[in-house]
Amino acid sequence: MATSTVKPRRLETRVFPTLNADGTRRWLRPRVSPGRFLRGRVCFGWFLIALFALLPYIEIGGRPAILLDIPRREFTLFGTTFLATDTLYLMLFLVGAIAAVFAVTALFGRIWCGWACPQTVYLELLYRPLERWIGRGRAGGAWRPAAGYLLYLLASMFLAHTFLAYFVGIDKLAAWVQSSPFEHPIAFLVMAATTGLMYFDFAWFREQTCLVACPYGRLQSALLDRHSLVIGYDARRGEPRGKGRAREGGAAPRGDCVDCGLCVRTCPTGIDIRGGLQMECIGCAQCIDACDAVMAKVGRPRGLIRYCSQAELAGEKRRLLRPRVILYPMLALAAFGALGVLLLTRGDAEVTLLRGIGNPFSVLADGLVSNPIRLKIVNRGDAARDYRVAVACAEEVELVAAQNPVPVSAGETVTASFFLVGAPERFRRGNLECTLSVDDGAGYAEEIPCRLLGPYRKEGSP
Ligand code: SF4
Ligand code: SF4
Repeated sequence: MATSTVKPRRLETRVFPTLNADGTRRWLRPRVSPGRFLRGRVCFGWFLIALFALLPYIEIGGRPAILLDIPRREFTLFGTTFLATDTLYLMLFLVGAIAAVFAVTALFGRIWCGWACPQTVYLELLYRPLERWIGRGRAGGAWRPAAGYLLYLLASMFLAHTFLAYFVGIDKLAAWVQSSPFEHPIAFLVMAATTGLMYFDFAWFREQTCLVACPYGRLQSALLDRHSLVIGYDARRGEPRGKGRAREGGAAPRGDCVDCGLCVRTCPTGIDIRGGLQMECIGCAQCIDACDAVMAKVGRPRGLIRYCSQAELAGEKRRLLRPRVILYPMLALAAFGALGVLLLTRGDAEVTLLRGIGNPFSVLADGLVSNPIRLKIVNRGDAARDYRVAVACAEEVELVAAQNPVPVSAGETVTASFFLVGAPERFRRGNLECTLSVDDGAGYAEEIPCRLLGPYRKEGSP
């Protein structure tokens, strides 16, 4: 990887890492610092990029590995389809995921941001390398910025198409791409807008997403403690810093930091890690690689900047077991465990009894009592099914339906209306207990208790 030749502005001219004293934005072109952590991040990051690009093509059990079909409100994850009504599953998944993120953060700090967040992965492994390759920011020809914009646009189009494949499926996406935009104007506009957003984010907004827009970064102070793994500068070893003649000729002993500034020049968010743990640090470990190389040159042991806890930097022992690193994983385990049990035990269909709209009951001209009810039938199977509804109780109740059995396509939800009609003398204190049976003739069968409402009559009254 080539290193940037752009010199940064002197530190005194800026008030924030990316804001100059005159109010203009300070553009960051971080220097690449080769080293063991960069090698690891490049390998892992490209693995993630390949995974992101290939997942839309992968099928599990005849279904896409991931398909988030928003118009149909169907979400397929690793071969399992969730419907809009599956709020319990969604809630358990979200609770588990949030608890897992909290646990990882409490243990390993911003490891997600530095190693796996799409914003960091694409910016640091695709867009910035493209920028360095084309030499944007270097003198010599107006073609460089133009070529940079073109490459960013191509990369953004690729990202936008891959991203949309998760929402529409790879087959539909391929059909859209091969046809004229006028045949699919809405799809084309969505694609163009997504490309524009990607371009805006990675070509212009860049590290500002991490600094000002990402809520996870803001949460850090609440999720980390003194024993969490962070990237820190060992001030006890590095200070007092000094360089050049002051270092060699000074009477006072100097620390290991030679004040070369490489850890600042390589930082993708422009901060100086020597100032202590900062919210802007995304944990990319570039300052570690930069400083280790300097330490090797000056004959000092590496690790002046390293992965460690704030407690260790203060000379204390790092405690691994703390309440938060026990509670968060337990919560994640409980939520994912409950989700797993629910998924393993759920049937091919789900039927919910709902009251009818309007009056709870009406007395017909012949004196019979009629109750409007609705059945919400969710077909989770792969094939269309006909659901037959019947009365399955000893009481004399008649089921009246406009359509029975009720056809429901695969993955669809249908709400069907019925009337249950019973003789008034069967009602006790205004209630009549009854049971409905629902079956699809293909293995699914369920009995659903149902209470009919009617005129209030005392026990024993005629
Ligand atoms: S790279 Fe290391 S030696 Fe150089 S300024 Fe940073 S901490 Fe000091
Ligand atoms: S301080 Fe170091 S780890 Fe943090 S963002 Fe900057 S270079 Fe990356």
